[in-house]
Amino acid sequence: MNTLVWFRNDLRLHDHAPLTSAVQQGKVVLPVYCFDPRHWQKTSFGFPKTADFRTQFLTESVMNLRENLRSRGSDLLIRLGEPELIIPELVKAWQIEAVFYHQEVTTEEKAVARSLQKTLKDLGCHCQSFWGHTLYDPQDLPFAIANLPEVFTNFRKQSEKHSAPADPLPTPRALPPIPEVIERGICPEYPSAVSRFMGGETAGKARVKEYFWERDYLRVYKETRNGMLVFDDSSKFSPWLAHGCLSPRWICTEVKQYESERVANDSTYWLIFELLWRDYFRFIAAKHGDRLFCPSGLRGLLVPWQEDWERFELWRTGHTGFPLVDANMRELAATGYMSNRGRQNVASFLTKNLGISWLMGAEWFESLLIDYDVCSNYGNWNYTAGVGNDARGFRFFNILKQSQDYDPKGDYVRHWLPELADVPASKIHRPWELLPVEQKRFGVNLGVDYPLPVVDLFRSAKHNEALYDAAPLLCQR
Ligand SMILES: Cc1cc2nc3c(=O)[nH]c(=O)nc-3n(C[C@H](O)[C@H](O)[C@H](O)COP(=O)(O)OP(=O)(O)OC[C@H]3O[C@@H](n4cnc5c(N)ncnc54)[C@H](O)[C@@H]3O)c2cc1C
Repeated sequence: MNTLVWFRNDLRLHDHAPLTSAVQQGKVVLPVYCFDPRHWQKTSFGFPKTADFRTQFLTESVMNLRENLRSRGSDLLIRLGEPELIIPELVKAWQIEAVFYHQEVTTEEKAVARSLQKTLKDLGCHCQSFWGHTLYDPQDLPFAIANLPEVFTNFRKQSEKHSAPADPLPTPRALPPIPEVIERGICPEYPSAVSRFMGGETAGKARVKEYFWERDYLRVYKETRNGMLVFDDSSKFSPWLAHGCLSPRWICTEVKQYESERVANDSTYWLIFELLWRDYFRFIAAKHGDRLFCPSGLRGLLVPWQEDWERFELWRTGHTGFPLVDANMRELAATGYMSNRGRQNVASFLTKNLGISWLMGAEWFESLLIDYDVCSNYGNWNYTAGVGNDARGFRFFNILKQSQDYDPKGDYVRHWLPELADVPASKIHRPWELLPVEQKRFGVNLGVDYPLPVVDLFRSAKHNEALYDAAPLLCQR
């Protein structure tokens, strides 16, 4: 059977069920990637859907996929346009009998696949989707997705007890060649900024090798993972996972190997634990569908969120007067990345202190994050905004305590806020307490060089807590 493999967020050759299955058909295999112009349109609040860092990472990943396919005797057809229009054309032109691809779980992605399926059906072409983004396969879970536990710990414990991640599929050693006459196509022009991340399966695997084997950081991951300043504080696997350059099952086998060759400890377990969070958000998205994107969230809580653009602008650009929030937001804008600790704090501040719609924050993250993953992003935002499936009341991050706990000397904040470079640790997280004489000494004119706080941390939280507590439920479940 001549088969077309449609690559989406799965830009790798290892552990790739559609590709492996296509090769098993023993005939022509056409690997295809479509740059879909809809991904560069605007979000509902008017932000670019994909900003430069992610565009660059994605394009590098596609080019690397092509290199890796070429080194095995195949190639990648690159097209610019909507897959549901382009793929049927290829099917008609090259006598394709089947199209294989990885399944997605969210609205826009599912709509594209549905539309493609329909056209292919009319053409008499077989269409088959495969599950492939998670550590655990849904069929190996001890419950159906419809019965997925609403609390992460229950999901984790039951999955760990009754199931195990399957081994990753090997990378095909050789691939059938593509007929010469088929035009290969080229990647669209893309921005090339200096980035800490290089897209592609090759760079992703190199990062795993570096983090686990060369630098031996996995050993201490649990202790360092909340750090914000040092690159190796956490694995930084997320951009490769989000684009499917790395498969979580492959990472899991590397962890197991590390455990047998070096050490098995809390840290090695914790990396798998975090990958389980990633699984959970994908399964939750599959279970709950569009509710993930509603202002009232998975919980269906009608919080009167504000769309206060003036304050949103201060948050977005890192000018709220709270150094921890500002440093993180500036890091995001400058690099496309923010640590998990940072994300939790800025998301809490936006929703619990400024009372601003979590969807505005989620869309801003969607635009900028180099590791944007629809399920992890919207799932985590639901969770942090208190509208997630297992929301347990109004919980907010005390930014001052978090600053003290995770940046005690202020090194992270100073790195991203040069205007506070000379402020000592005792005042760096509360610059508003600087006396005029201290401001002069440390070279910062408050309200001019660095803003005064946009809100009172505790009063604003109290106000928003009252609104949250009074919010009605959309429907009883
Ligand atoms: C508001 C908010 C939005 C987020 N948006 C995204 C997103 O769009 N894409 C994304 O990949 N992660 C997202 N996260 C989760 C997390 O912040 C990042 O995965 C993590 O910071 C990536 O850095 P790392 O690879 O060094 O993580 P590590 O600590 O090294 O973790 C290893 C891997 O586990 C997974 N992981 C870790 N924490 C989480 C989590 N809370 N939820 C889901 N998976 C997790 C990631 O795949 C990560 O690469 C978000 C978190 C919050 C609070």
